[in-house]
Amino acid sequence: MEKYREILQRYWGYESFRPAQEEVLRSIAEKKDTLALMPTGGGKSICFQVPAMAEDGICLVVTPLIALMKDQVENLRRRGIGALAVHSGMESRAIGIALDNAVFGNYKFLYVSPERLSTEAFKSRAEQMKVSYLVVDEAHCISQWGYDFRPAYLQIKNVRDIIGRKVPVIALTATATKEVADDIMEKLEFSAPNVIATDFQRKNIAYIARECQDKLSNLLAICSSYGQKIGTGSGIVYCRERKRCVEIASFLKASGIKADFYHAGLGRDERNLRQENWKNGKTDIIVSTNAFGMGIDKADVRLVAHIDMPDSLEAYFQEAGRAGRDGLPAWAVLLWNSSDAKKLRQLVNINFPPPEYMAKVYQHVFNHLKIAYGDGLYSVRKFNLEEFVRNYRLNAVSAYYAIKYLEQEGYWELTEEIDNPSRIMFLTDRQELYSVQLESSVMDEFVKNLMRTYSGLFSHMVRIDEEYIARITSDTPENVKAKLQSLSRRKIIRYIPQLRTPMMVFKCERLRENNLYISPSRYKLRKSQMQKRAEAMITYAMQQQKCRSRYMIEYFSQPAQNDCGVCDICLKRKKGPSVRSIEETIAGAIGKSPKGRLSFLELKILAGPQNQDLFIEVLRDMADRGIVILGDDGIRMS
Ligand code: ADP
Ligand code: MG
Repeated sequence: MEKYREILQRYWGYESFRPAQEEVLRSIAEKKDTLALMPTGGGKSICFQVPAMAEDGICLVVTPLIALMKDQVENLRRRGIGALAVHSGMESRAIGIALDNAVFGNYKFLYVSPERLSTEAFKSRAEQMKVSYLVVDEAHCISQWGYDFRPAYLQIKNVRDIIGRKVPVIALTATATKEVADDIMEKLEFSAPNVIATDFQRKNIAYIARECQDKLSNLLAICSSYGQKIGTGSGIVYCRERKRCVEIASFLKASGIKADFYHAGLGRDERNLRQENWKNGKTDIIVSTNAFGMGIDKADVRLVAHIDMPDSLEAYFQEAGRAGRDGLPAWAVLLWNSSDAKKLRQLVNINFPPPEYMAKVYQHVFNHLKIAYGDGLYSVRKFNLEEFVRNYRLNAVSAYYAIKYLEQEGYWELTEEIDNPSRIMFLTDRQELYSVQLESSVMDEFVKNLMRTYSGLFSHMVRIDEEYIARITSDTPENVKAKLQSLSRRKIIRYIPQLRTPMMVFKCERLRENNLYISPSRYKLRKSQMQKRAEAMITYAMQQQKCRSRYMIEYFSQPAQNDCGVCDICLKRKKGPSVRSIEETIAGAIGKSPKGRLSFLELKILAGPQNQDLFIEVLRDMADRGIVILGDDGIRMS
């Protein structure tokens, strides 16, 4: 453990492990096959990264999505740790180089996407590698019972035969049902069952679900009050649609809150900037789609509010869990009403287009990209969904979900995360260049910097990074781009800015109509599971009996513990009798009044001088829940 701590401090700069991490690390230190169950954001990566740093050899990590892989590899590299990635978005030459480096180079981590494990290129190199650990991240993907089954994960156990059974397996997931856990250990052929289930409870988060019609005014009240309560206003508001993010952010701004929006449609630099501003407190509230959060690490988030209902409690728990990492009181508020529940139920159907339709979309995609039967394996193509649906007269939403379903089945991955760095090349020779440079000293310096930083600029297109150039020239990325553009306009360089088009990465060759098999039983299972998750989410919001924290923990099949004492239900229970009796008093008074209406003055009299605030709070809650209506002429039952 002491050794682990040193590594943590040296490479990560963190003071200590979280208690849950220590539990997992103790098991791993004994070289036992280990399945770690830890909530998202709990810090699973460190549980294998630190032990791997303490061993000789290279740590093999399987992770399902290219986006996740890139994130982790970049993270390690930034800490000065040698990490490699091999996925289907790469050219085969690049894969070969990476795999050779994994064998002969001085690297500590090799990330591999599961469909790559069965390739000859991988298997032949894996035999020669000295592997420290075999890590299976997002391990629930191996289980049919998991919510994100990926058939390619079943290949992993074959890797154990190649690298030797002595290499311990570390499997990690946030999905904690017993069914899934047992399945993971069986499929990975654990030498002995060994689950380390850590505590999912987040004691400092007060979960609140508020049923309300007017979400915006509720949100505003929440943002203002929680900010004041604890002195920092840092918060995230999650929202499903990009357009609404923009609207809500400007609504909050107009109301005097330092708000901004964030979504995946913004350019990378723009996103970084907004994230930075929020991290260092220039922005208090960031209104975002769920694109925000992958990899963010801000300890003092006081509020996570949801203005739309997420698809599942898994997602909700994860997003809400970004609050209160520092252990201080924080709030997770879900604003919802019956139309959310309706929309969510519809979404289940939208997510599962009929199999015949998906089979059609499958062929259309290949036709669109002009890939013949039997071809396309591991190729990467630009894919413009709009163009595609226009071409084939498809409904964009259905086509999208068909593509996503087939992605889960392991045929392909639609991603924006593939490297497409900017590239430049000089169109002039050195002599000409000198004469141009003299024109302006700023440009002169800039061009010199380019030449100092990159080699080969006169002979071929060279990959560059505007942000990096900005850093070494103490400039902004925007300025750097402007300068490059100006050079390009003057035909001094050729400049191809970074592409951020969605890419289709094919993990299988194109199959013929009758060879494409969309398993009906899996389809049914996946669909019913999504239904179950949606219902659990809806019930979480609607139910008024169980402590919200307990509800979630039990949903994740963790042993029941104490009620949290801080969620809206626990609080209501604490002041329970009084709140309920106030509700009854108000309803009774309205019933008895001759016009079926109570004026605000009458309400105040009813409350008496001591209880006016409480009465008004209860009244507001009743109005939110649609029990009473607050009109200009008073309060009446709805
Ligand atoms: P998970 O995979 O469980 O969702 P991650 O491994 O991505 O979680 O970690 C979530 C965040 O917590 C990361 O930003 C990570 O740097 C941070 N983190 C993990 N362990 C610690 C620790 N011991 N101290 C401080 N921060 C940590
Ligand atoms: Mg993780």
